[in-house]
Amino acid sequence: MKPDDRLNHDEEYLTAATVEEFRANLAEVERRIASAVERAGRDRSAVELLPVSKTVPQDRIRLAVAAGCRKLGENKVQEAHRKSAEMADLDVRWSVIGHLQSNKARDVVAFAAEFQALDRLKVAAALERRLQTEGRSLDVYVQVNTSAEDSKFGLPPEELSAFLEELRHYEALHVQGLMTLAVFSSDTDRVRACFQRLRTLRDQAVETDPELIGPGKLSMGMSGDFEVAIEEGSDCVRVGQAIFGRRGVPDSHYWPEDS
Ligand SMILES: *Cc1c(COP(=O)(O)O)cnc(C)c1O
Repeated sequence: MKPDDRLNHDEEYLTAATVEEFRANLAEVERRIASAVERAGRDRSAVELLPVSKTVPQDRIRLAVAAGCRKLGENKVQEAHRKSAEMADLDVRWSVIGHLQSNKARDVVAFAAEFQALDRLKVAAALERRLQTEGRSLDVYVQVNTSAEDSKFGLPPEELSAFLEELRHYEALHVQGLMTLAVFSSDTDRVRACFQRLRTLRDQAVETDPELIGPGKLSMGMSGDFEVAIEEGSDCVRVGQAIFGRRGVPDSHYWPEDS
C-alpha cells in the first residue's frame, strides 16, 4: 500500500480457488486491517470483518469457510436464501447487506441473522410482522446515503432521526447502528467525507437518545476503501473482492452507478 493513497479501487484481486489461496487473501486483508487499526490507534477487536460472497458459487464459498470465514454477507436476498439452504450443514451467520423489497421480508427472516440495508418503514413493518410470527428478532443497520447521489439506496441524512424514532416501535428489530456506501471515487477526500458524515450522524443520534441506536456501530468500508473507513471509526468492514477475487458482475447490478 502506498502511504499517501489508501484506496485500492484499481487493485487486481486474485481469485482464490483453494483453501490455501483463501487463507492468503484473508491474511492480506488482515494485514491491511491491522495497519489501519494501528494508524487509528484503535483495537483490532473493535473491527468486524464481514466477508461478502455475492456471485461466488457454493464450491468456492465452502473453501472460504474452510479457510475461516464464519460470517457471510450477500447483497441479494434470493441468492443468499438459496445459498444458506445449500450450505445449511455449515456454521455460517448470514447477513443481508443489499436493498430489500418489502415482499421479500419473509425470505430474510427465514435464514438471516442480520439485515444491514434498512431504509424504509414499509420494509421495517414487513420484517417486524414476519419476525413476530416466527418469534424471533433480527439485528439491523439503518442504511444512510452519505454521498448525496440521488441514485444510491439509503435514507437521506436529514430523515435519520425521525426514522430511528419510528423504529422504536418495531420491537423485533434490534438496531445495531448505521451502514453506508461511500462515493465510488479515487479521490480519498471525497470517500473519507462520506465516512465522516456517517460517524457524525451516529454521534448525533447517540446524543439525542442512545437507546434508539443500540450499540451505535458503523458498517462502512469495502475492498477498495476499508482502510479509510477504519481510520474514520468503522466497526464493520464488508469485504468481497479482496477475499474472493474480482467479480465479473459490475457493481451497477447491485446499486446504481455514480453518475
Ligand atoms: C458487494 C458489496 C460489498 C463488498 O464490495 P467489494 O468491492 O467486493 O469489497 C460491500 N457492501 C455492499 C452493500 C455490497 O453490495
